[in-house]
Amino acid sequence: MRAAVITRLNSPWEFQELADPVAGPGQVVVRIRACGMCFSDVLVHRGHWPVQLPIVPGHEPVGEVVQLGPGVTTLRVGDRVGVSWMQRGEGRCVQCQSGRPVRCEHTQTWMDLGGGYADLMLAWETGCFLLPEGLAYSDAAVAFCAGYTSMSGLRNADPKPGERVCVLGVGGLGHMAVQLAAAIGLETVVLTTSPDKAEYAEELGAVRGIVTGDDPGKALADAGGADIVLATTTSAELVSKVVSGLRHSGRLVTMGVTGPLQIDDMMTLLFKQCSIKGSTHNNRADLVEVLQLMAAGKVKPRVELFPRAEINDVLKRVEAGQVRYRAVLQDDSA
Ligand SMILES: [Zn+2]
Ligand SMILES: [Zn+2]
Repeated sequence: MRAAVITRLNSPWEFQELADPVAGPGQVVVRIRACGMCFSDVLVHRGHWPVQLPIVPGHEPVGEVVQLGPGVTTLRVGDRVGVSWMQRGEGRCVQCQSGRPVRCEHTQTWMDLGGGYADLMLAWETGCFLLPEGLAYSDAAVAFCAGYTSMSGLRNADPKPGERVCVLGVGGLGHMAVQLAAAIGLETVVLTTSPDKAEYAEELGAVRGIVTGDDPGKALADAGGADIVLATTTSAELVSKVVSGLRHSGRLVTMGVTGPLQIDDMMTLLFKQCSIKGSTHNNRADLVEVLQLMAAGKVKPRVELFPRAEINDVLKRVEAGQVRYRAVLQDDSA
């Protein structure tokens, strides 16, 4: 099979012919149809993520099951599936025994089996999710990191009916977070530094796109504040400052990998009894919920499609923040 391989950090990814994977017990082989690209891929490329090289990256993969390993019972050859980042716990720790393999310290990921920028991908059966009928591969791919991260962030904030959500930053994650929060009936506003994104946020379902300068906390407070802030930006400064826009008992959930946070507004944090939480892919049900909302037409990712052969150009575009709003690499048959 042909695959894009990271052989050295900060160097172009190489296309190589690799041996076709063979499904072992509990595993399947997926013929990849599409795979989205995320800022985490840039972090892997730069060496900010601990991976063993060489490696095939790609963690928003979707395609068709073409081979079942021994003992696979829930999937069939021909099933349309996507594969999540965390696929299987080691089974015996407290988290695994509690039914939360994504929290296992020894969870198996694309870093163990190889990712989705390849013709074929090996995956654990337990890491596969059936795609709803009619959902295009190019859209479905975005559910597997951007959608999953956003929905887990929202669910981790424990939203109550009538609460107001603010999404900070409109990129791959943020454009999904806005739609997801609005789709489950929450009043949603957006904070962004760019006027065109503020306008676009209203098309995505936000009641208001707020353009902020360098003080997003004040901008949000002036606009009525929020019970939940979903921070999807990689700017530590914006995340640190947005605290001032939280309402009483507000929750700031940060999902982007930023530098150190420095909270200046301790008065809001203390006297409004706010909390700050990190979040990533959590309950399996969160991803299923995203897929269902997409299939119902309530959430639609905005994607730019590219042939896989252009992967190095796409990586540069993602790194430069030029993609609106998610880049998806397609296989040659697309
Ligand atoms: Zn990702
Ligand atoms: Zn475990």
